[in-house]
Amino acid sequence: MSSSDNEVFSLLRRRMVSSQLRGRGIRDERVLAAMERAPRHEFTGEQDRDQAYQDHPLPIGEGQTISQPYIVALMLELLEVSPDAKVLEVGTGSGYVAALLAELAAEVISIERHGALAERAGELLRRLGYRNVTVIVGDGSLGYQPAAPYQAILVSAAAAEVPKTLLAQLAEGGRMVIPVGGPEVQQLQVIHRENGQIHTILREACRFVPLISDQTLR
Ligand code: SAM
Repeated sequence: MSSSDNEVFSLLRRRMVSSQLRGRGIRDERVLAAMERAPRHEFTGEQDRDQAYQDHPLPIGEGQTISQPYIVALMLELLEVSPDAKVLEVGTGSGYVAALLAELAAEVISIERHGALAERAGELLRRLGYRNVTVIVGDGSLGYQPAAPYQAILVSAAAAEVPKTLLAQLAEGGRMVIPVGGPEVQQLQVIHRENGQIHTILREACRFVPLISDQTLR
């Protein structure tokens, strides 16, 4: 890619942040700065690069999608990730959200059930220099016990209910953001563990591809 291509993408990124994110009420400056830095066009398919900064999701292969920039920003804002946090993402997909989390947190574990997507995302994240992300192939509805607990858990696919195993891997004081509902529409839930108690706040409606688990959720 030429340096003038990069300048165009960087301009499109700044516009995306000001109109789609700031313009719709995203206020977290760390999230806005991360989204202004991360090269979303690297994470879309080659054929969709020119649409990378538009206001909609895009296909990434295997019947999966990279989510709309606004919903990504909203989920990251709701997650309130601190710079020293260890974060779990369920549903690596293209690796875009994992890259953003890598900008916001100390360590990111991201789990993807599709081997081909996980491999592509892992290679891309390495090539782009994100050294604090580990991509794992597996069923993310079971979390990733070896690195638990996590100060933040972000689920990038729609769950019929909140997986209990994920709740158990959430650290004291930690937050989870997860879309919960049926296949057509879900609601974002912000789950906070405080003094051993679980508090849930219901937020915006959204539409994600389903969280697919071979296990009965525990
Ligand atoms: N965050 C991604 C990105 O930045 O491109 C987009 C995620 S996409 C909306 C949802 C992803 O969740 C898909 O890649 C899908 O294969 C994955 N997924 C679905 N069920 C899963 C599971 N049980 N464990 C891990 N990944 C899962």
